[in-house]
Order: sequence, then C-alpha cells, then structure tokens
Amino acid sequence: LEPAYQFMLRVRTPGGVSTADQWLVMDELAQKYGNGTLKLTTRQAFQMHGILKWNMKQTIQDIHASMLDTIAACGDVNRNVMCNPNPDQSEIHTEVFKWSKQLSDELLPRTRAYHELWLDEEKVASSPEVDEEVEPMYGPLYLPRKFKIGIAVPPSNDIDVFSQDLGFIAIVEDNKLIGFNVAIGGGMGMTHGDKETYPQLAKVIGFCKPEQLYDISEKIITIQRDYGNRSERKNARFKYTVDRLGLETVKEELENRLGWSLDEAKAFHFDHNGDRYGWVKGVKGKWHFTLFVEGGRIADYENYKLMTGLREIAKIHTGDFRLTGNQNLVIANVTSQKKKKITELIEQYSLTDGAHYTAIRRSSLACVALPTCGLAMAEAERYLPELLTKIDAIVDANGLKDKEITIRMTGCPNSCGRPALGEIGFIGKAPGKYNMYLGAAHDGSRLSKMYRENIGEEEILNELRALLANYAKERTEGEHFGDFVVRTGVIAETTDGTNFHN
Ligand code: SF4
Repeated sequence: LEPAYQFMLRVRTPGGVSTADQWLVMDELAQKYGNGTLKLTTRQAFQMHGILKWNMKQTIQDIHASMLDTIAACGDVNRNVMCNPNPDQSEIHTEVFKWSKQLSDELLPRTRAYHELWLDEEKVASSPEVDEEVEPMYGPLYLPRKFKIGIAVPPSNDIDVFSQDLGFIAIVEDNKLIGFNVAIGGGMGMTHGDKETYPQLAKVIGFCKPEQLYDISEKIITIQRDYGNRSERKNARFKYTVDRLGLETVKEELENRLGWSLDEAKAFHFDHNGDRYGWVKGVKGKWHFTLFVEGGRIADYENYKLMTGLREIAKIHTGDFRLTGNQNLVIANVTSQKKKKITELIEQYSLTDGAHYTAIRRSSLACVALPTCGLAMAEAERYLPELLTKIDAIVDANGLKDKEITIRMTGCPNSCGRPALGEIGFIGKAPGKYNMYLGAAHDGSRLSKMYRENIGEEEILNELRALLANYAKERTEGEHFGDFVVRTGVIAETTDGTNFHN
C-alpha cells in the first residue's frame, strides 16, 4: 500500500483578487480534497492543506478550470505579485491591480512542464539536448532563490512594500496614477544564529511610469539571475546581492540594461501597514467590507461558521473577494442593492469587522507553522490567538484596547508572517520558545531588533506587562508602540538590515 502522503497547494492569486465563483471553487475543493479549511496567506494567496497525493492532479485541474493556477506559487522564480486591495479608491485599485496581474502573468516561467504534468498536455519529458524549449528571462538555471514583487498604494502599506525584493509605490496625483517609486532589495528571511543572514528593507532608487514596470521588473530579475549567490542558498536572495554589490552599482546596472535612467523618486507617505475594517463606500458607489480573519484561517468552528457564512455570501455576491496582505478578506464591489442582503448574512453568521476584538488582535499575523509546515520550530497560527487572549487582559488593564500595535508570530526565521516588521514580533526557536523582537515602525518602514532570546509564555507576558504599562503612561500623543520603545531606549533602532543583529 502506498502511504497517504498529503500536500499543501498554494494558489497564485495576483493582487489577491478572486471572483465569487472562484471563491466557491476554492471552498468546494477544500471540502472535497483538502482538510475542509482554507488559509489566506500573507502574500494574498490561498493555501489548501491536506491534499492526498492521488487527489493532487484533479485538484490542480479543477483550480485551473476556475481560471486560477498554482504556477510559480513556489520555486526560484517570481512569486505571487502583491497589490494593495485599496477598497476605498477603487479606480486606482483597478489600475494598480491591472499592473500587478500583468506583471504576474508576464513574469511566469514559459515552460509547459506544468501543463504537461498536471493538465494532460502530451509531452512529459524534455532535455536541453533534444528540446529547444528555453526560458527567455530565467534561462536554463532559473533564479538562485525565490523573488517577490509587491505594489503599495499610499497611505496604506498593507503589502509591506519594503519587505519585497522589488517594491513599487504608486504615486497618485489629482486622483490619477502617474507612476511608481521603485524600491529594491527587501526580504524577511534569515537563519537563527547566522549573522550573515538578516531581514532587510527595500530602498527607493527612483521613479518610473506605469508602462515601464515590466521592463524594470525583467531587468532587475535578470540582474539577480546573473549576480545572485548560487553557492550559498542562505545568502541567495536579491537583498544580499544588493548589499554585496552596493545599491548604486545595482541601480547603474539596471539603467545600463534599460538603456534609460529612472526619474527622481517622488514624495510619498505611509500611515500604517495594517488593514482597516468594516464597510467603506468606494468612488464608484460600490461598497467594500473588510472582514477580520484571525490567522487567515477560513474554517467552520463550533460557534462560528465563518466558512459557511462566506460560502452563502459568495453564492449571491456579484463583486469580488480580495485577500489582503494581512490575511484578512475584503468582500469588495458590493452594489447598494446587494449590501442589505450581505449585511444580513454577515450578521446571521456573526462574521465580524473585528470591532469587538482589541486592536492588537486585529493587527496580528501568524504563519501556518505546526502542524503543516515542515520547517516550523514552534507554533504560530494555533498558538497566537491563545497568547493574545492573555495579552488582551494586559492591554485592557492599561486602557490600550483601541491602540493598534502590530504583533506577528512565525514558527521559524523564514519569516513568512514578516515578524521583523511587527512592532512586537515572535520567531519560533523550539516548542514553546520564541525570540522576541521590538521596535519596528507602525508603517513598515523600520525593522525591529531582538529584545529577548528563547523565552516562553510566562516571560513574554512579564515583559509585555511592564512594557505596555509604561507605554500607557509615558507615550506622547499619537506615538506608536514601536516608536515608543525606540525613543525610550528599551531597544536600539535598527537603521538597516545589516545592523539588525547588533
Ligand atoms: Fe514560513 Fe517558517 Fe512559518 Fe513555515 S514555520 S510558514 S517556513 S515562517
């Protein structure tokens, strides 16, 4: 008998946009072949867990039939292109989303292997000697490591644009998209105990017009293809290439390959890197409801039928769904006629805009970790809600219930939940033990630094009891927690990823 191997499938969803019909397909496949739940990831993609090996092909074919796919959702290529869901400025969103979808499609590998293996196209083997199939951009060796692109629309930095290998910041003037600032060299992953690895923020190198996005992306990717570290995988991400060669050298190389120069970067301002919940009316008279989804897990719980409620909404919804970079969900483009019915369903299933949770819980992120991620050293998604209940008591006691403090937990330093950009971050070290990080900026523009190493729940709560009490008493007007701990000397400021460990 063959063992019942089970797999995770990640579905590429550029900009996190899914139609109501696609939502229903994901839901049905999760029930039929998966573990009956869906995970909304921190890169605006769907993950389905628990797919048995012999169901993989049918699941992928059904996903493909819904006009979604799993191509390049993994591997050393460009991954899912993120994009701000921006529900209250939908004209800009439409345009920005169009660019993110186009980038995602144009940067896909050209190989037909996926179609041959999973979609029953005929040829199932090829080799460079007998087959002329070439990857015009990736070349025969692909990239040294995965590559991530995201587009943010200020004032929201909800896709954490500085965490991307290549980030674009939309510049809007008179409600028109005039172009993008270009930021390069971000990335969150590192290895415990290895100071040669570190999280890094992308740096802005100039401005481009919308129609130049693809050209820039292609050239940056080929620079990484040609100069990335192929001998040490831990140092293979583009951020290390930029730091090794120098920002100016990479910019020069980019402009040489482009044959033209970037314009000077334009001014921009981010307010936050979280989501805003509840109903908002967009510019075209459509409505958008941002729903808090704890840990991004869509499931039916004993007293909370989240998955069923969303299924019922999808059945009547004529707009779309947008997965946010914070693992939440926007029920988007709701007509005034449908809003009443959808509001009734939201109430019937007690779906929530998060208003009855503390702001710290609404600002939380947790990666999958145990039991489904093979790299996890500690719990994240299953444990953070429980820890937050204990932190909520401290938050409440200090009158901080409405204070947004970003808090992020991952099961390992690969950092899928971007913990180094949480004002409070935890990275798993061993079962029940975490490194604790403090001092990131609320708008995602500054990294945190390690505050305590390898601590368990009791120490975490003791630390937070003292820190949050001081914050409640001594913060200046409007001061965010991450700024407060830096200003008061609790933690040194991380001015660049290269001094993250100092
Ligand atoms: Fe990513 Fe590590 Fe979390 Fe797994 S445990 S999902 S690799 S951060």
